[in-house]
Amino acid sequence: MSSPRSRIGVVLKRKTKKMDQTVLFSNIVSKNYSSEKEDDVVSLLDHDFHETQENNKGKRCGLVSFRELPEYMKDNEFIVGYYRANWSFKEALFSVFSWHNETLNVWTHLIGFLLFLGLTMVNVMKVPHVADLLSIFTRSILTSAEANVSHNSKHFFLETTKVVNLEQISESTMDMITQPATRWPFYVFLGGSMFCLLSSSICHLFSCHSHNLNVLLLRIDYVGITTMIITSFFPPIYYIFQCDPLWQYVYLGGITSMGMFTIMTLLSPSLSSGKFRAFRALLFSSMGFFGIIPAIHATIVNWDNPNRDTILAYESAMALFYLTGTMFYVTRIPERLKPGWFDLAGHSHQIFHVFVVLGALAHYGATILFLEYRDRVGC
Ligand SMILES: [Zn+2]
Repeated sequence: MSSPRSRIGVVLKRKTKKMDQTVLFSNIVSKNYSSEKEDDVVSLLDHDFHETQENNKGKRCGLVSFRELPEYMKDNEFIVGYYRANWSFKEALFSVFSWHNETLNVWTHLIGFLLFLGLTMVNVMKVPHVADLLSIFTRSILTSAEANVSHNSKHFFLETTKVVNLEQISESTMDMITQPATRWPFYVFLGGSMFCLLSSSICHLFSCHSHNLNVLLLRIDYVGITTMIITSFFPPIYYIFQCDPLWQYVYLGGITSMGMFTIMTLLSPSLSSGKFRAFRALLFSSMGFFGIIPAIHATIVNWDNPNRDTILAYESAMALFYLTGTMFYVTRIPERLKPGWFDLAGHSHQIFHVFVVLGALAHYGATILFLEYRDRVGC
């Protein structure tokens, strides 16, 4: 085996005649040193890998404590037990029906997903508000006793012309019959919410599988949260500023750019660790706080909207739900106060999940009001 000195000598002979030998010597020494360091790191990783494999063999399908977890899964030391670690894909899938510390994290968002799927189906299947429009039409225009007309829109229209002069029907009412409000911003929000809730459930169910899958799923989860925040802005901004497209572009462009920045930042694996919990919460909250600007603007623009107070109540409820949820997420209360007591049920992440679903539902309520308003009052 050649000594480092002789190795250096050989390289010196090969590489230089003209170069300053002192500089070269120091370069080579540092190169040798760093390659030795690299070897150390590789052997450490190798050792870790074998250790993980050993763990895999020994602990199939048994729940383990925080101390026994592989390093990549150590996130919340206040949850002491009932962990799954390095489970196969199939075992993780079926663990949706068994008790461990992620069961309620999976189910809270799975139920939320199913709820939003149901709401989407109801809205997609509903004939685009023909029935609702006709009832508004009936209330506002029909003055004759001959109100007993068919609810078939063609018959209804022909019958009403007998008693109401068509010229009396305002232009906006005619618009309202033919053009219900654009629906895509509403479905963008529903789609974003479903993506977030489903990806979160999947993340909680399978992140115990392996380090690689854990990192990948955490990233998808963060992308899901960001998507939900961005898409939540679409219905209110689109419908409030429907008659003023410049503000639609400014606000929707602004929030989408912030979302893209957040996604790119969070895709760095180092920011997925527990240490950066508060930083992640700050990024998500700042997107939420961005909403204050269009909210104030919208309130001024819509001061005369009869639904103003109800919409504000819904949106304030949403903000309160999200902020309360974020507070639990960051502080890790209550498990911090009594480590081990809330492992299965009642820990902060489960509470956070429930508040996320409540916030999304409150926002859905406000969105329905925006839609009804734009169905009645076009632009
Ligand atoms: Zn979660």
